[in-house]
Amino acid sequence: MTRKKLIAANWKMYKTPEQTTAFFAEFLPMVAGHSRDEIVICPPFLDLHAAVEAARGSNVAVGAQNIHWAKEGAFTGEISPAMLTAIQVTHVIIGHSERRQYFNETDDTVNRKLEIALENGLTPIVCVGEVLEEREAGLTEDVLRRQCTRAFNGISARKAAKLAIAYEPVWAIGTGKTATPQMAADAHMVIRHEAEKAFGKEFAQGLRILYGGSVKPDNATALMSEGEIDGALVGGGSLDPASFTRIVKY
Ligand code: PEP
Repeated sequence: MTRKKLIAANWKMYKTPEQTTAFFAEFLPMVAGHSRDEIVICPPFLDLHAAVEAARGSNVAVGAQNIHWAKEGAFTGEISPAMLTAIQVTHVIIGHSERRQYFNETDDTVNRKLEIALENGLTPIVCVGEVLEEREAGLTEDVLRRQCTRAFNGISARKAAKLAIAYEPVWAIGTGKTATPQMAADAHMVIRHEAEKAFGKEFAQGLRILYGGSVKPDNATALMSEGEIDGALVGGGSLDPASFTRIVKY
């Protein structure tokens, strides 16, 4: 089965609305007509409106970096799925390791956020991955299995149709260290197996599993050529339009 790759930019806490508009003005002409891969930019919440306006009618979609698990309510500082879809945001990153590390995101909140994202028709990019100590202790598979099982809990294959996963070894995020294509492929096979157990074989074969962790123009081709890698979640390498274009066109 061929899976169209998804190349997603995670801007983290970088760029103002003005800088967002300027990015799109430079980036869109460089990727115009590029249909081999799906391209998504995930800026900070405050920039989403500018991004959606700039991307309108183009081959680039816009995603958020987080959502809340409730429909609405007294959750100061949070953003609901309906608020995102109301401004035509189509994708959302869930459970990024920085959110797990600094904002108490757990496997349970990831599960709740995944459920409501799917209910609202968003395409969720659920992040999983081990920290260095876990890899060194030989626990990578266990960690991935636990994160996937809990994220998928109670969700049906029919409901999960739009799901994408990003395998992001935490030791490779923002460090310049990258997993080798083989290391990523091994992890992706574990994740695909968990998806098969939760949603069935056909679903698992169609599931896109992205790699994230210091993807740069120089290593994108090697990583994207690995059959198990169905795209990339790119942090630092996505902030500059020329750099991200080179990754998209690996
Ligand atoms: C990320 O933020 O998801 C990420 C992979 O960051 P970087 O590409 O900078 O390692």
